[in-house]
Amino acid sequence: MANKGLLMCVCQGNCPSFQQMNIFDVGNAIRREKLIDYVAIHPQLCSTDGDRFLSTLLKGEGTDELHIAACDPIMQVKMFRDALESAGFDKAHLHGVDIRNMTTDQAVDAIKTMVGTGKTENK
Ligand code: SF4
Repeated sequence: MANKGLLMCVCQGNCPSFQQMNIFDVGNAIRREKLIDYVAIHPQLCSTDGDRFLSTLLKGEGTDELHIAACDPIMQVKMFRDALESAGFDKAHLHGVDIRNMTTDQAVDAIKTMVGTGKTENK
């Protein structure tokens, strides 16, 4: 069975676009339903250390499908391209969803839709 991960990023936690949600409650809701194999929050995935985090995480065979709940999925592909390439991770297995300006419940629903359907907004 494919190993699925979920990363959430909320622009260091102080961006107005993420103030309506509790990101820990979002992650817990997804964990409790066992929809994915692991959940993590990164403070700023598009930073240099975010790149290092992604490439370190994705090296090897530990993750088959990576889901990222953060900002615009098209921008995600552009911002994370170098890290994915460095890890040898095919971007076809990256699934992104934009959770900006959502409440906790709305973000949970958006992530569940992405994970459940495999629908990718970044293609
Ligand atoms: S990846 Fe997106 S959500 Fe995360 S810090 Fe960068 S712009 Fe903000």
